Amino acid sequence: MKILVINSGSSSIKYQLFEMPEEKVIAKGLLEKIGEEDSNFIQKSEKGELKLKKKIPDHETGINLILAMLTSRDKGAVKSVEDIDGVGHRVVHGGEEFTASVSITTQVVEKIRKYADLAPLHNPPNLMGIFACQKSLPHAVQVASFDTAFHHSLPPKAYLYPIPYEMYKKYEIRKYGFHGTSHLYVAKRAAVLLNKPDANVITCHLGNGCSITAIEKGFSVDTSMGLTPLEGLVMGTRCGDIDPAITFHLMGKGYSGEELNNLLNKKSGLLGISGSSNDMRNLIAAQENGDERAKIAIDIFCYRLKKYIGSYLAALGPTDALVFTGGIGENNAMVRQESLKGLEQLGIWLDEQANSGNPPGQEGLISKEGSPVKVFVIPTNEELQIARDTFAIAQK
Ligand code: ADP
Repeated sequence: MKILVINSGSSSIKYQLFEMPEEKVIAKGLLEKIGEEDSNFIQKSEKGELKLKKKIPDHETGINLILAMLTSRDKGAVKSVEDIDGVGHRVVHGGEEFTASVSITTQVVEKIRKYADLAPLHNPPNLMGIFACQKSLPHAVQVASFDTAFHHSLPPKAYLYPIPYEMYKKYEIRKYGFHGTSHLYVAKRAAVLLNKPDANVITCHLGNGCSITAIEKGFSVDTSMGLTPLEGLVMGTRCGDIDPAITFHLMGKGYSGEELNNLLNKKSGLLGISGSSNDMRNLIAAQENGDERAKIAIDIFCYRLKKYIGSYLAALGPTDALVFTGGIGENNAMVRQESLKGLEQLGIWLDEQANSGNPPGQEGLISKEGSPVKVFVIPTNEELQIARDTFAIAQK
């Protein structure tokens, strides 16, 4: 069975075509800058690489281009679009409605539209991808995989904010959590590595967006992102946890709601503190050249991550493993080391050599033998998780 996984963002579409159940990627590609003059397309399959630069005005044209490339006679991966049996769509916000991936019906579409109120930047382009695929692949099963779904098991003490309860009842203001597909994927892998299906695991997804999740026997019981992905850890351009009064204070200085939204989501975090970059690689290089602001940005990032790890160890109790994933988590030994410094008494015994010697982007155990909490690097694979879910639903 061939399963296409689509991640449709505001101006880009990422995709992978899987052969299931073998879990083999037979093609993958990226279309960027949709709506601009020079949209960029690249696809890789076993038959080679395809590149294209031309204006792709909208998502529907984008999906049709992707299907044309997947069926390209020279460098495609399938003979006809009819060979694609199912499509798994990444959807960011599923609110309280969705606790797992689902087959897309009219009602599901309505709910995704409803939750666009909570994820205005994500759910609308996710829907554009869904509509385009429904039109061009009417024979295929369409499945939605929600970033929020894995966190459906959060208990009220973790998901309610200490603000008037009516805000939850009236406006559905609560913690939803995100990156669920990634946390689920690496937690399952950790359970396999531990040979313990009901393991308690803390997973740190550190990419451009960053979040940490406490997982008890396979269920998410707390997570750092909240109503939106702005809460929690320091991120590339997002502030994470701050005193909410900063916003009123700045409103008093003349900032509008929209300006604050932009300030905290796009101009804060690593970029805001360093003043130079949201990319950890650049900051490390800058720090090595004596850039003090880059150094403090990295320090704050690691210090706040360490505090979260400590609090999640407290929240979870007996913890079997801690997992690092995402671009920073998988590649950056320095961040792993700094964020775990001094946690020995909490049961985390990092093996510094194993940590620094772990090849970038590869799975590895980086704690010392006998460490009460094992520490793993596990590359995430959200697309594969979505492909597995879609395959399972398509089989039914
Ligand atoms: P996204 O959340 O957009 O998927 P990624 O998971 O790719 O992002 O993570 C992006 C982050 O990972 C950037 O801060 C980047 O600097 C960092 N990163 C990627 N590779 C490395 C590396 N080799 N060393 C340090 N940081 C890295």
